Amino acid sequence: MADLEFNFRTGKVSIDYSKCKTCQSYACVKACSLFGTTLYRLEKGKPVLMSSPEETGRRCIEDLTCELYCHSHGNKGLTIELDMFGLEEYRKQRGLK
Ligand code: SF4
Repeated sequence: MADLEFNFRTGKVSIDYSKCKTCQSYACVKACSLFGTTLYRLEKGKPVLMSSPEETGRRCIEDLTCELYCHSHGNKGLTIELDMFGLEEYRKQRGLK
C-alpha cells in the first residue's frame, strides 16, 4: 500500500515513504522541478504534493522523470504505473487470457 498516490491522465504515481526515510537525494522533487511542473515539495523529510491529488494529476506533464531519477539517484520509493491502451482488446482478438 502506497503512502502517497495520485492519478494522471495515463497512469498513476505511488510513493512508499518507508523508502524515502533513508533517501539522501530527494531526486524525485529535484527532477520534477527541473523537467516537470514542480508537483512536489519536501515536508519533514518526505515528498508531498504542492496541491490536491486531482490538481496534481491535471498539472502533471507525464515526463516520468520523478521515477527515472528516484530509481537512478534515490531510494526507489516512487513507482509509476502506465495504462496499456488496447491491451485487453488485443488479447481478446488473439484468444489470450
Ligand atoms: S527520490 Fe524516491 S526514495 Fe527519494 S524521496 Fe523521492 S520518492 Fe522517496
